[in-house]
Amino acid sequence: MTRPAIGIDLGGSHATIAVVDGDKLLASHEVSLDSARALRPALDVFARVIRELLAELQMKSAQCEGVALGFCGLADARIGRVISTNKKYEDAPAIDFNAWCNREFGLRFGIENDARMALLGERHAGAARGCDNVVMITLGTGIGGAAMIEGRLLRGKHAQAGCLGGHLPARVDGRQCTCGAIGCLEAEASGWALPLMAREWSGFPASKLARVEKIDFQALFDLADAGDRVAGEIREYCLKVWASGAVGLIHAYDPERIVIGGGVMRRAEVILPYIQAYVNNHAWTPWGTVQIVAAQLGNDAGLFGAVPLLTGNV
Ligand SMILES: [Zn+2]
Repeated sequence: MTRPAIGIDLGGSHATIAVVDGDKLLASHEVSLDSARALRPALDVFARVIRELLAELQMKSAQCEGVALGFCGLADARIGRVISTNKKYEDAPAIDFNAWCNREFGLRFGIENDARMALLGERHAGAARGCDNVVMITLGTGIGGAAMIEGRLLRGKHAQAGCLGGHLPARVDGRQCTCGAIGCLEAEASGWALPLMAREWSGFPASKLARVEKIDFQALFDLADAGDRVAGEIREYCLKVWASGAVGLIHAYDPERIVIGGGVMRRAEVILPYIQAYVNNHAWTPWGTVQIVAAQLGNDAGLFGAVPLLTGNV
């Protein structure tokens, strides 16, 4: 039996802190943050919340395995540091998290990119359980990715291998992406790209999409269901982008399973069959069929990832 782990899942607008034991989330607490500000002052908040959670559970920090942070940017697990922030918490690369964790709790510290943490979590307690060769895609404001090959997370020399799956090219003459490239999956079919795409779409002014308060995937799917032509065409385009991305990821990483997460998976009944059929028709996998499945742990996946990150040989 491994000891409980303390997980911190850090997003752009909030952090969730939790104590996880095996496949059970014992207690958790969410705090609001602003990624335009520094992260260092937030560490005091994290330490206080961790103490409160442990007190609530009548546990001492020494009973825990360590503290693991899922960071919304590039992080190098081997040195325990953030290496690139993508304009969120810009002071993070200068923070010595190991020293902080040791000083506050006398515990080991682990850090990973948040998409890799989500993959670890889904493999530990969710949709990728028992699967050593798996790719995870998170469809949200951006498109996150992570890959595990033969039971080991793919990290690479500069800690960016596998986690830039959302920045595979989908269209050579496509939209400028935030990463510097052109026509990435994320620039063609993510939450941030959707309103830009919709406004450029032929017939947009006559579409009900032009009259919704916020052009997001929920509005898109609802209007497509209701027969709105433009919404239907854009939804079809997004499905095709995601599905061709899945084929690209299969060809790159040789997975047996692709786990798809993110808010848009509320419409898994539309998305999964589409991507599965596209993969069946277009992926070169002479050994068999890659399973396309929905993530099971939602926003908690990264917290569950704390356990294998700290205790597993991943
Ligand atoms: Zn990109």
